[in-house]
Amino acid sequence: MEWNKILSDKENKKRYTEYVNEWENKIHSFLEFDLDRQAPAQTAEQNVLESEKESATVRAAQLISGMPYAVKDNIAVKGYRLTCGSKMLKDFVSPYNATVIEKLNTVEAVPVGKCNMDEFAMGYSASSSALAATSNPRDLERSSDGCAAGVAAGIVPFALGSDTGGDVRQPASLCGIYGLKPTYGSVSRYGLVAHASSFDVIGVLSKELTIVESVFNLIKGKDEKDHTTAGYPLAGKSLSQKSVFGYLGGDIGLSEPVKQAYKNNIDILKAKGYGVKEVTFPLLEYVTPVYYTIAAAEASASLAKYNGIRYGYRSKGTDSPLELMKKTRREAFGDEVKLRILLGTYVLRSGMKEKYFIKAQKIRTKIIDEINSLFKSVDLLVLPVFPTTACKHNDAECGNRVQEKFTAIANLAGIPALSFPAGIYDNLPVGLQFLAPQYEEKLLFQAAEIIAKEIATAVPNAPGFKTIEEICTAGR
Ligand code: GLN
Repeated sequence: MEWNKILSDKENKKRYTEYVNEWENKIHSFLEFDLDRQAPAQTAEQNVLESEKESATVRAAQLISGMPYAVKDNIAVKGYRLTCGSKMLKDFVSPYNATVIEKLNTVEAVPVGKCNMDEFAMGYSASSSALAATSNPRDLERSSDGCAAGVAAGIVPFALGSDTGGDVRQPASLCGIYGLKPTYGSVSRYGLVAHASSFDVIGVLSKELTIVESVFNLIKGKDEKDHTTAGYPLAGKSLSQKSVFGYLGGDIGLSEPVKQAYKNNIDILKAKGYGVKEVTFPLLEYVTPVYYTIAAAEASASLAKYNGIRYGYRSKGTDSPLELMKKTRREAFGDEVKLRILLGTYVLRSGMKEKYFIKAQKIRTKIIDEINSLFKSVDLLVLPVFPTTACKHNDAECGNRVQEKFTAIANLAGIPALSFPAGIYDNLPVGLQFLAPQYEEKLLFQAAEIIAKEIATAVPNAPGFKTIEEICTAGR
């Protein structure tokens, strides 16, 4: 696809803009959108593709070349605002590009917009955003994170998101698209605003598995600007007929549609001749409390820099620095962020740290051990992503429940996970996820391919969704 040609044609651009506007009026997935944006010409320094000789990378570069894409508003793109969905950074314009953007610049992919998101990525459906409310394009009465909604509606072929406890995979599942949370340290986070640094990772959302894989191949690899990154090993395992998938049996708290999808997809793997094995994960119920304890502690530290002095929102009418800081934070942070700061400060407080934070770290280690020992008897895990289908706007009971027990496992253990469309139930998409050991992303893509061949109806071309190719060729 010659994207540059398609989008430089005036008629095409008009049709595309009309389509974007039509959907945006309904779903509000973007905080900024700029179709005139061009990928800046690359410099030698920017040419950071790690292994250009690797054929997967060359193919990836061809597929993604010139493609428009969206970026979650906590990833820095020079010249765009970097709001993090917060009043605190509402007018802050990024002076530089995140490494992932620089890498995509090398194939001249074009960041055409910034997506709405939960304030500082706390949530999963943009409900805590201070700037907009996004609707799920599958059902406008339901909420969604911006990137997933924009991709599902066909506004862009892919988006870069961030996943701290599930925020790539959950919205992707609820909108019926793919969402990859890569291995911790495989993708540079230089230019990603921190939520909880020992979990945060940049991921990819798309309707097309090959696009997710290609973008991942382009953005992965060591980056001097992020010391948590490591070189990505070239050879990984491949799926074979001997591969075994582990799944959780028993009552794990799923709604009826998710339960059905889980069973159906396991049956598909079985019917295709793969091994499936019921496994137990006794620490499952600890995942959410451990995740929240550590994530809140880390967030309370990473949010300390928003003090009204160096950048971002500054409250007016105070003369002491302490008052200025207090008033700024009171006025510009929303309730969810304040709650996490309080919780995080509490669990780190002297006298409490042993009891909560250190204890959570110890259980995290046990969870990692348990996951590693599971991978001795199975090659991949298949798990639910979210216990229900998408929640309605302001449905406190549905939306406020903490729902990370299936997704945060991968963040606690630093392993990769890919959520995939697993069926449509009562007109709403259900997603499931594959999890693999560190650096075994290839296994995830191969496993998702098996399902993709069987569940054509889940690959989400609902009425009203078009691809850019369809929009641009419609008038011919
Ligand atoms: N829902 C989780 C939280 O609120 C995870 C969010 C995320 O992955 N950014 O912390």
